[in-house]
Amino acid sequence: MNIIILGPPGSGKGTQSKLIEDQYGVVQLSSGEILRAAVASGSELGNQAKHVMDVGELMPDEIMIEIMAARIDEPDCRNGFILDGFPRTTGQAETLDEMLQARGMRLDRVIEIQVDEDVMFERITGRYHCARCGEGYHDTLNPPKAEGVCNVCGSTEFERRTDDNADTVWSRIEAYREQTEQIIPYYRAAGILTEVDGMRKINEVTQDIADILRQG
Ligand code: AMP
Repeated sequence: MNIIILGPPGSGKGTQSKLIEDQYGVVQLSSGEILRAAVASGSELGNQAKHVMDVGELMPDEIMIEIMAARIDEPDCRNGFILDGFPRTTGQAETLDEMLQARGMRLDRVIEIQVDEDVMFERITGRYHCARCGEGYHDTLNPPKAEGVCNVCGSTEFERRTDDNADTVWSRIEAYREQTEQIIPYYRAAGILTEVDGMRKINEVTQDIADILRQG
C-alpha cells in the first residue's frame, strides 16, 4: 500500500503517518525528517536545507525528487510507504507519478488532513519532542504526564524544531497555500483523494484514516 498524507504545517500529518506506519507495516518517508538529518550531519545539502527551512520556504524540486527517488528504492519500501511532506509542488507530484510508473508501482490513496489556520499556528508554535526517543509533546495541548519527563523513555531532555517559531510559521503556511494546495485537484481528478477533518482528537483522525485505508 503506497499512500501520501497531505496537509498544512500543524495538521498532524507526521503524527498520523507514524501511527499508520505502526498499524500497517508501511514505512514513513518524511521529507522534512530526511532534511533535518542532513542538517544535523553538516553536509552541503544540510547547509542549503537549513537556510531554506529557517525562512519557511521550499527546497528546489530537483533536489527533493532525487532524495525521495533514492529513498523509495531502498528495500524497506517494498511493502509500501507513506509519504509525509512529499510531494509539495505540482512538479514533484507529476515526477512522483513518473517515478512510480517506471518502477511498476502506483499510489493507492492520498489523504488530505484539513485544519483551520489559527489552529495550525497554535499547534506548531507550542510543539516540542523528546531529544532521546522523539516522542512529540505540546506546551498546552499535550504536556508530558510528569512535568519535564518523557512519558515513553523517561528522558528529561527535550528539543524544538528551529523552524517551529512564530516568524517562520506564516511563511510555511503561505508556501502550503500557494504551492502545495495546488496538487489537491490533481489527485482529486485521479480519483484517489480523500479528505479528513483534522480538527478532531488524534485518535479520531487515526480512526478515520484507518476506515479510508480499509476501503482501499
Ligand atoms: P516538514 O517537516 O514536512 O514540515 O518540512 C520542513 C521543511 O523542509 C519545509 O518547511 C521545507 O522547507 C522543507 N521541505 C520538506 N519537504 C519538502 C519538499 N517536498 N519540497 C520542498 N521543501 C521541503
